[in-house]
Amino acid sequence: MSKIAVTGSLHYDIMLDAPHRPEKGETVMGSACHYKSGGKGGNQAVAAARAGAAVRFAGSVGRDQQGQFLRDFLQQAGVDCTAVSVIEAIPSGMSVAITDAEGDYGAVVVSNANQHIPLETFEQPGFWQDVSLLVLQNEVPETVNLCAARAAQQRGIRVCVNAAPARPLSAAFEACIDLLVVNAIEARDMCGISVQDLTSARAAAESLAGRFARVVVTAGEHGVAFSEAGETHTLVAQKVTLVSTHGAGDCFVGVLCQRLSIGATLREAAEEANRAAAEHVSRQPH
Ligand code: ADP
Repeated sequence: MSKIAVTGSLHYDIMLDAPHRPEKGETVMGSACHYKSGGKGGNQAVAAARAGAAVRFAGSVGRDQQGQFLRDFLQQAGVDCTAVSVIEAIPSGMSVAITDAEGDYGAVVVSNANQHIPLETFEQPGFWQDVSLLVLQNEVPETVNLCAARAAQQRGIRVCVNAAPARPLSAAFEACIDLLVVNAIEARDMCGISVQDLTSARAAAESLAGRFARVVVTAGEHGVAFSEAGETHTLVAQKVTLVSTHGAGDCFVGVLCQRLSIGATLREAAEEANRAAAEHVSRQPH
């Protein structure tokens, strides 16, 4: 069976519901508190596994309760965690997110153990067995991403990078990328085009297509633009009642990659991801 390898972050998420997000110096009385498994890497691995993919995850946690919680959660979702390393004396990655009454959120992340994913992980032949697609994000050091991407490339495995959060990418890393997935903010940072609707999402995808073989630009409630082989198309978002946008992009990437790993075209995969992500934002994230 064709597997997906995901390398990336695992964060223990503390999620607070509040009427609004605090301003400078303000203390806001919230209404609820939830604990969940997070980190873009973990979220995308779980989304791909729930969509039916066989997923192998490479990442790092601390030797603490949060790390155990994160590994247990991924395993229960069916993700192979044999390549998750436990880093001594460094805590697991942590995130605190505040969701306001409109369903919008802001978050603070401390990477901790995610900064220490051992590069030897990618030298293990077993890690790559049956893998057809590697999925990366920007929440771990680029040295980790580059090492994983090069190991994948040497084995003829395609590399999908969700360049989130936005940061400059080295030319060496860009050269390894087969498929780039970015949201509006990341697209603006990478090509200078402000994405506010599907027309500007299309323009951003076209612009980035000069640098990457295949590009997907997600544009929140507007939908998605995708570009390959000199052609760019758009998909309108499904109309849903918004509950929370938390993790929409991760759900999108996980489902997109699951479809690609079973041979779907980019259009088919983006259509399915667009559907699944709309359903995701209409549900509570915990
Ligand atoms: P991120 O979460 O990374 O910022 P986006 O906000 O672009 O990513 O959302 C990713 C995808 O989730 C969108 O392309 C769309 O398919 C879906 N989505 C997000 N917000 C909505 C919404 N309000 N209604 C329907 N679909 C949505």
